[in-house]
Amino acid sequence: MSFWKKPTPAAKIPERVAPRPRVFVPESVLAKTEHLIASTHEHEEVVYWAGLEGPHGIVAVSALAPEADTTYGSFDTTAVSNAVAIQWAASRGLGIVAQLHCHPDHRVGHSRGDDLGALMPYENFLSIVVPHYGTSGMGDFQTSGVHRYEHGRFRRLTSDEVTATIVVVPTAASFRGP
Ligand SMILES: [Zn+2]
Repeated sequence: MSFWKKPTPAAKIPERVAPRPRVFVPESVLAKTEHLIASTHEHEEVVYWAGLEGPHGIVAVSALAPEADTTYGSFDTTAVSNAVAIQWAASRGLGIVAQLHCHPDHRVGHSRGDDLGALMPYENFLSIVVPHYGTSGMGDFQTSGVHRYEHGRFRRLTSDEVTATIVVVPTAASFRGP
């Protein structure tokens, strides 16, 4: 007879799936981003969002245009130009929370170069590809390719996921009476 207690099976702990954060973008930041993305109309351009990540989501507060070598079909930043943008953000207590760039035509998939060239992606980092050199604006991001870094790779979000993820917030609102 054994006095050893029969081991109880380990309680089944449901695997916690952390919800993916929403990304809040003030209209003013979106407008500046659209301006910077579409500044040439004939070259790809790249913009970073500086912001904060908190328990309730990510907030973009500034649009940064790093110094970059751009052509009709590519952009290239350097470690130094990225460091300048990162330092600009860090000196204000911010981090780089997303990267955006434009493509010449309607294609907004992530190229291999886009994968390799993405600025130090980390879990939930967004890389947004804007079509037609940004000349049609970005609006609700439905014509853009919104790619999220998940488990070591970028995955393009579905239209519904884009709607659920990016929240464009008016820069101001007035509830004053007439
Ligand atoms: Zn690209």
